[in-house]
Amino acid sequence: MKPSLLDFTKEELAQALSPSFRAKQVFKWIYQGYVDDIEAMSNLPKAMREHLGQTYDLTPLHVVREEISQDGSAKVLFQLRDGHTIESVLLPMKEEVVDEEGRRVSHPKFTICISSQVGCKIGCTFCFTAKGGFVRNLSAGEIVGQVLAIKKRHNIAPERRVNIVYMGMGEPLDNLPEVVKAVKIFADIDGLSISPKRQTISTSGLSHQIKKLGEMNLGILLAISLHAVDDALRQELMPINKAYNIASIIEAVKAFPIDERKRVMFEYLVIRGRNDDLGSAKKLVTLLHGIKAKVNLIYFNPHEGSAYQRPELKAMEAFRDYLNAHGIVCTIRQSKGLDISAACGQLKERSTHDRT
Ligand code: SF4
Repeated sequence: MKPSLLDFTKEELAQALSPSFRAKQVFKWIYQGYVDDIEAMSNLPKAMREHLGQTYDLTPLHVVREEISQDGSAKVLFQLRDGHTIESVLLPMKEEVVDEEGRRVSHPKFTICISSQVGCKIGCTFCFTAKGGFVRNLSAGEIVGQVLAIKKRHNIAPERRVNIVYMGMGEPLDNLPEVVKAVKIFADIDGLSISPKRQTISTSGLSHQIKKLGEMNLGILLAISLHAVDDALRQELMPINKAYNIASIIEAVKAFPIDERKRVMFEYLVIRGRNDDLGSAKKLVTLLHGIKAKVNLIYFNPHEGSAYQRPELKAMEAFRDYLNAHGIVCTIRQSKGLDISAACGQLKERSTHDRT
């Protein structure tokens, strides 16, 4: 199989091409010109186009299926070159901005949620992806290719910046080298120009990898799937907690470099009668003391055979209000795409059933 051009940073491409300034042109064609065909890179000499075509691949990710929700969010199932499938989600939102005349106008904003692995090793009990086990890491090009394909497919102009969340299939910090490379490719100003400040790595809490990522000082944002304030419940939900307990995660987050204007996001899955009481809210305030944190409360949605129940709105609001009153920004997640396969891994699951 020929290597994909999407797997290269511009610097790597500059080393592979002579003269090296051609790398900038190739980057612009791919990420700003949206071309899928090397032949279309008309400012490159013919011989170079031929060489590139013989040596590299530029086939876009193949879309197997797409589900569009009534709220406009789209879930896309992609097939990789080796036949494995992964999924990504496009979340359109509205952002209020002030125009030149001082008027507040509503402005479309996009977030794309991408996968970093085929399957996952982490084994969270509430997750569909976990059931299929781990298959392999994605390459940087396969990570970048998801955003490129979605932008093209949904006619999002090349110059329109999007936010990226590494929150689809897989644990991004378990594939750190390729994820870091993808962060750099996304950020390239001759490419998609998505600054690390618009990229969020969402992790199950691999504390040693959080430390490693922090030491790289990329300026990226961090989201932690915390879900519980005591190790017993967290271990029940996320067996990985045996290896990386809550204390180790908090310690790693405290050492992580955060932009002054940003916060670390803590995801908290609320389960009726287990972690929805004010005692848990109080423990959470204590745990997050000293961290510029934002908490996102997520309703637990029971599925067939699940041992837990959905919390009541009253409990969610009381939890949120307690946190807000104690200096922690807290929101209740407005689930998007509830009418399509909403949980991570569900689209893939359904498509597999359809084929069998
Ligand atoms: S929730 Fe995320 S980290 Fe946990 S098993 Fe699923 S994909 Fe992996």
